[in-house]
Amino acid sequence: MVDRRLLLAGAGVFALLAGLRWLDGGDVVAAGSFEIQKDDSEWRRILTKPQYEVLRLHRTEIPGSSPLNHETRKGAFVCAACELALFSSETKYDSRTGWPSFYQTLPDAVATATDYVLLFPRTEVHCRRCGGHLGHRFEDGPPPTGLRYCINGVALAFKPDSIAAS
Ligand SMILES: [Zn+2]
Repeated sequence: MVDRRLLLAGAGVFALLAGLRWLDGGDVVAAGSFEIQKDDSEWRRILTKPQYEVLRLHRTEIPGSSPLNHETRKGAFVCAACELALFSSETKYDSRTGWPSFYQTLPDAVATATDYVLLFPRTEVHCRRCGGHLGHRFEDGPPPTGLRYCINGVALAFKPDSIAAS
């Protein structure tokens, strides 16, 4: 009986630690200090539901669902929440993943954190100004950087012809 209780207690501790680890992954962004900070109800009000789910809840849009996959004009891709210019059309490429992909960000545009949503570490990418979750960075991109910024199109807005400078 005692053994069983210990076993249950052990399982509880494990669940707690696992929970904390998950919270930790999500909190890296939420706890950060950003230039633009709003409470949750305000984000819900100004963002569409799909934008809110990606930018604030770190969800991932369905691959192939963003019209920005096919955007080939010159311009800047800005944060859908705060309009900070994040990527230039010059660094966009077709990664065939179904998500808009870039091999480089604009200067001082994004920050990264490590997340464990899939239980192995990934480099999470968010807007450095408002903390909105954008997507992930992988190291299988094309030259010259070898990086692939795999970004949810719903987290971006496209500004054609705008000067893609920070
Ligand atoms: Zn932003």
